[in-house]
Amino acid sequence: MLDNSNQIKNIISIPRKIVITTHRSPDGDAIGSSLGMYHFLIQLGHTVNVITPNSYAKFLHWVPANEKVIVYEDDKKKASQITKDADVIFLMDLNNIDRTSDFADCISSSNVTKILIDHHQDPDENIANYIVSDPAACSTAQLVYELIDTMGMVSYIDKNIAECLYLGIMTDTGSFKYSSTTAKTHYIISKLIEAGANNTEIHDKIYDNNSANRIRLLGYCLSNKLLLYPENKSAIISLTAQELDKFKFEKGDTEGFVNYALAIDGIKFVVFIVEKDGVVKLSLRSKGDFKVNTIAKKYFDGGGHINASGGTSQMTVNDTIKLVEKIIKKI
Ligand code: 5GP
Ligand code: MN
Repeated sequence: MLDNSNQIKNIISIPRKIVITTHRSPDGDAIGSSLGMYHFLIQLGHTVNVITPNSYAKFLHWVPANEKVIVYEDDKKKASQITKDADVIFLMDLNNIDRTSDFADCISSSNVTKILIDHHQDPDENIANYIVSDPAACSTAQLVYELIDTMGMVSYIDKNIAECLYLGIMTDTGSFKYSSTTAKTHYIISKLIEAGANNTEIHDKIYDNNSANRIRLLGYCLSNKLLLYPENKSAIISLTAQELDKFKFEKGDTEGFVNYALAIDGIKFVVFIVEKDGVVKLSLRSKGDFKVNTIAKKYFDGGGHINASGGTSQMTVNDTIKLVEKIIKKI
């Protein structure tokens, strides 16, 4: 999977205009791997711009160089021009160009060298000239570290890069507890801490930085909105737009809610359904070898990892619950 490292090292050996982008509604790994790459390439003398398809949760805004990120949805003209002028485009943490939503056309119409770094299943090979892919890797941030290491450039990993990559690995492993967490992950984490990542501070900024409204919304969700199907080892949590309004929802507030249902003894499959910006979005999670990405793909025009996937529904929240109930009863 790092067979391309020599070519990539070559490409970045002379100063270039580089765009780094990632998937819509970027999470900690998307932002961490993109900005980690940004800090690395800046040190090599490149002109680098990170462009995200849309905005992201406030709890990610502390990340070094966050203020430099261009949000395509907020400034389409500038983002398009910068992408047109780029010599190289890095695609981070996505396996399909559709994951960049409205920004996809702009990326696709550029014919420059594209490099994909990603850990999702079955990356679309047509979207990049060079692909660094490992579906077994816990995070794209870990792959960024491995790539820098394979290129023999770990000495470039400073505090900024370390903080970004630590963030990506921490969030995509559920704080180092998912089965994708390996000895290698912990080894890399130790190197990132040595390089200046303050682990306690990063945990605090991500997990202990909630608004009171978010905690109240979580409480409401768990006491009023949790449906359990013990005989099917499954659970559903749902939230409508009205319910979000009541708790003054802000972007990122429902992140991680799905995991609470998975923490119930005997529950192996959870679906979280939420109506946001006029779209019914699903988050699917499982434990063990039950593949939620096949369900996300088959019923909800989505995809993802074996134990963590997402998708969308064209139905109302209530009708989506009914469909999920049917799926649960079938498994
Ligand atoms: P989340 O539930 O946190 O939104 O997403 C979990 C994982 O599912 C993401 O890391 C991503 O791989 C995948 N995913 C989420 N939404 C979509 C979607 O709409 N389409 C596809 N293909 N994958 C998604
Ligand atoms: Mn990821």
